[in-house]
Amino acid sequence: MRIGVDLGGTKTEALALDDHGHELRRIRRPTPQQDYLGTVQTITALVQDLEQEIGGRGTVGVGIPGTVIAATGLVKNANSTWLNGRPLQHDLSEALSREVRCANDANCFAISEATDGAAVGAEVVFGVILGTGCGGGVVVRGGLLTGPNGLAGEWGHTPLPWPSAEEWPGPQCYCGRRGCLETWISGRGFERDFERVEGRSLPSAEIVAAAAGGDADAEAALVRLEDRIARGLSTIVNIVDPDVIVLDLQMPNIDGFTVLQELNADQRTSVIPLIVSTSLAVDAELKAKLPIGTRVISKNLISRENVSLFLRDATSFRSALS
Ligand SMILES: [Zn+2]
Repeated sequence: MRIGVDLGGTKTEALALDDHGHELRRIRRPTPQQDYLGTVQTITALVQDLEQEIGGRGTVGVGIPGTVIAATGLVKNANSTWLNGRPLQHDLSEALSREVRCANDANCFAISEATDGAAVGAEVVFGVILGTGCGGGVVVRGGLLTGPNGLAGEWGHTPLPWPSAEEWPGPQCYCGRRGCLETWISGRGFERDFERVEGRSLPSAEIVAAAAGGDADAEAALVRLEDRIARGLSTIVNIVDPDVIVLDLQMPNIDGFTVLQELNADQRTSVIPLIVSTSLAVDAELKAKLPIGTRVISKNLISRENVSLFLRDATSFRSALS
């Protein structure tokens, strides 16, 4: 049995797979905020509960919103900042009495999508998670690029490209700099942007819902988000020119099928090297309906609004790339 844990900024989920990769069971709990020991205990309890329910003992891997520095074993670059400087891998191994391996969550996502997900068969894949934070991972010919500092693909702390006067110097980032992509295009960044501009505070899911209901301010916030994600991705395209960019848009959401329909209706998307997200299975019939140049699409987690980001206005890609 293999157990994988996704340590997120707001929730932590543990999944048990049998030896053939079939799902046995999964459990999700809130991530304790600002509480390192609580986080260790939550992960430990999730694993123990899974093993008790299933009746067995598994290997454990944990995707974390940060990186474990090989030389020190300490976490860095985590947007769940209470993990930074902590020996998470060591403490989990102790608590669970076995070797536990921690890896950057966006790297886990990218290698997973490249191996048997939305980007299977693609030569160069850029995987993006836009959730509480903003992470990325690069896979080349089936292998993950990590880099000597464990930083490959870590685009969340690169600056927002081509900032407007209103976007300069940008929000303060927990990393110490201002204007990092993460401060703009993560779920939290999206909410803060809406609050800054509109003077009211709403969770990202409600902003998206309001836009769908015709709220012009919410719609404008989505358009700004769209443009910023496109600008951020355009630098990735210029550096590694991925065959596929897989987006895991965890923000608000749901109707992946509508997204595909909209994508189908918008022939402009053919300029995009490729995009999409995880969760709506795409069969051959659907694929055949997609614009030429659109190579992969998959799975749920995307909302019509989120993806229309790229679809409604692919011009931001074109202008950035031209
Ligand atoms: Zn930063």
